[in-house]
Parts: sequence; C-alpha cells; structure tokens
Amino acid sequence: MPPHTGEAEFKLSLRGDVLLAPMTTLGIGGRARYFADASGVDGLVAGVEWARSEALPLFVLGSGSNIVVADSGFPGLVLRVSMRGMISRVEGKRAMVTVAAGEDWDGFVAACVARNWAGIECLSGIPGRIGATPIQNVGAYGQETSETLVSLKALSLETGKLEELSAAECEFGYRTSRFKTTARDRFVITSVTYQLEVSGNPAMRYAELERYLGEHGTTRPSLAQVREAVLTLRRRKAMVIDYQDPDSRSVGSFFVNPILTRAEFEEVKQRASGSIIGSEDMPTFPTADDQVKLSAAWLIERAGIKRGYAHGGVGTSTKHALAIVNRGGGTAGEIIKLKELIQGRVLDMFGLELTPEPVFVGFES
Ligand SMILES: Cc1cc2nc3c(=O)[nH]c(=O)nc-3n(C[C@H](O)[C@H](O)[C@H](O)COP(=O)(O)OP(=O)(O)OC[C@H]3O[C@@H](n4cnc5c(N)ncnc54)[C@H](O)[C@@H]3O)c2cc1C
Repeated sequence: MPPHTGEAEFKLSLRGDVLLAPMTTLGIGGRARYFADASGVDGLVAGVEWARSEALPLFVLGSGSNIVVADSGFPGLVLRVSMRGMISRVEGKRAMVTVAAGEDWDGFVAACVARNWAGIECLSGIPGRIGATPIQNVGAYGQETSETLVSLKALSLETGKLEELSAAECEFGYRTSRFKTTARDRFVITSVTYQLEVSGNPAMRYAELERYLGEHGTTRPSLAQVREAVLTLRRRKAMVIDYQDPDSRSVGSFFVNPILTRAEFEEVKQRASGSIIGSEDMPTFPTADDQVKLSAAWLIERAGIKRGYAHGGVGTSTKHALAIVNRGGGTAGEIIKLKELIQGRVLDMFGLELTPEPVFVGFES
C-alpha cells in the first residue's frame, strides 16, 4: 500500500506494484508503481492531486487497446477511467446521447444500433472505452467519431477544473486530435456527447463493406445489417478482440496509413516502380483535401514483412500485416525491435517513415 495516501486512498483504493500486462490487449508490459480505478469525477480529481502531491508521473488508462507498455512498467500512478452511465434525449430526428468515459465503446455502438440511431454503426467492434475514442478520432469503414461527436467534458490537468470542449475545439484529423498533439496529457475526458440520427441510413462509403453486403443480397441494409457485416469483415482480419485468437492480441493497426501530397506520392511511386514488381497496383484512397492516402499494410507486405512474420515472441498477424501481435510470451522490447525493422524496410523501399498509431507508456523517449 502506498504511504500517506489519505483522502485519495479513501476515494480511489490505490494499489501498489500492479502488473499492467493483463490490462492491455497486447498482454505485454511491466508493473505500475501505483494503480487505481476512478469510478467518479471525485476519485479522478483525488488521483490527479495525489500524484501531483507525490511528484509522480500520471498515466490515464482506458482499456489498454492502443498502448504499448514498457517491460519496466510505469514509475508513477496509472489511473483507469471507469465512470459509467449514459443519458439520452430524442428531439424529432435527433438523438443526443451523453456517455460516461468508462463505458465500453462497442457496447455503446450496439445500444445505439438497437435503438436504430445512425452515425456510428461502421465503428462496430472497435475495442476501448468511450473516453479514449476522441484521442485518436477513432475511425473505420468510412466513418469517424468526430462526425457525430458534439462536445465532451474533460478535467483540465492545468486548471483542475471540468471544462466543456466543442468538436471544433478538439481539432480532429485523421487518427488524431488536439489530445494527441497540442494538448497532449492536458485533459482527462470524463464524458462525451454525440448527436445521432433517429432511423437514419447507414453510412455506405467503404467499397469492401458495400461489396460484402451486395454479395449477400443486401443493397439497402439496415443499421443492424451494417453492424453485423462490419463485425464479420473485422473478424476476418482479427480486428475484433477474441482472447482465444492470438492474432487479435494486438493494438489493431500498428501504423497509420500515410497521407501524402500529390507530389510526394509521385516520388514514392517512382521509387517503387524501379524496385517492386506489381507496384502499379499500389492501392490509394483519395482524401477530402486532394491528398493521397496509402495502405500501410500494402507497403509493409511489399517491403518483405508478410502476414504471420515471426520475431521472437511477437510478430505480424497471420490475417493482417498491419497488426503486430503477441504470439505468446512477447516483450515490449521485441515489439520495439519489430516496429523499427518494419519502419526501416519501408523507409528503404519507399522513402517513407511509417508513423506508429499506439501510445508508448513508460519508455524513456
Ligand atoms: C483488435 C483491435 C482493433 C482496433 N481497431 C481500431 C479501428 O478500427 N480504428 C481505430 O481508430 N482504432 C482501433 N483500435 C485502437 C483502439 O481500439 C482505439 O484507439 C481505442 O479508442 C482505445 O481505447 P482504450 O480505452 O483501450 O484506450 P487506451 O489504449 O487505454 O489509451 C489510449 C490513449 O488514450 C488515452 N486515454 C484513454 N482514456 C482517456 C480519457 N478518458 N481521457 C484522456 N485520455 C485517455 C490514454 O492515455 C492513451 O494515450 C483497435 C485496437 C485493437 C486491439
């Protein structure tokens, strides 16, 4: 038990020397010097203040599906955001829903689809808690959380006060937000408000999803059919957590898909055409601002790291080259080595540096 925890111990049940690996989807990582679950804003504030009074670093945890924890663990307080609850109000075609940060994201999606509220159906099957989804503007199958997020409440670690931030103030971008950039580690999100459309149509913007539904005779799918289709497609790529399936012991995509200007893209294509057979098939996706999005998975495979590549206790998923998995007994050190190997190969082959998606916890730099 930590010394002199006083009020914080009372509100939080602080524990000392807690193994973090089981609290992550990778199942990797050492111990937190201190750990606590914050099931209310009071507990959250108490934890933040206690860490500050003890001059300890603070890490805010959701369900650990987008983090790599160092083998040496974390030398401060890991505070898991565990507030629960959901309030909704329907006004004509609009459903305004406020969800506590500790609620499970996919449980929330399922509840909205069951009520026939449109706007997040393509984000089915993504692990994690509500409070983490704005951090990297979670997205999949043509939809992003920023499209329906109206505002959020967060504890400012600078002022110690609860603040309300509009979607514009979150500065969302592709797999990023203000919380990952200019306001990194400055806020703890406590709840998020979404505006969904009552009996709205599902978003059909992703060719693979549309093709799958078409093949199954569904040209005008319901929200529930889209959810099921997304779950099926995700399972094929081990992108739904299944603890029986070692291929899903990952953080999802390990790298974000590179977004390039047209000129940068031409350079990459030029470089690839000199060395790679079939480089003319390089998949590209247009973006709203006339840039070009590339497939990180394609780049990795063409750089020679195939699906099922093994590197000690870790490797790439047998179903998706973009997912680094814990094959059993893997370490964070091995994850970092494999990350660097992949980045090095892609850099050599395409002149592109892949940017990792997960957050690295407890590493020196
Ligand atoms: C199999 C699999 C598939 C995935 N598929 C996708 C996908 O399709 N699309 C996608 O975008 N992501 C995907 N991910 C990544 C991940 O699910 C999301 O990033 C998710 O939102 C992380 O939630 P979490 O609660 O696990 O956050 P954690 O991993 O615990 O934390 C991630 C980051 O958010 C911060 N954080 C967490 N909660 C809060 C809070 N309340 N306030 C402030 N900061 C907070 C943490 O400090 C950390 O920096 C996938 C992951 C896996 C394992």
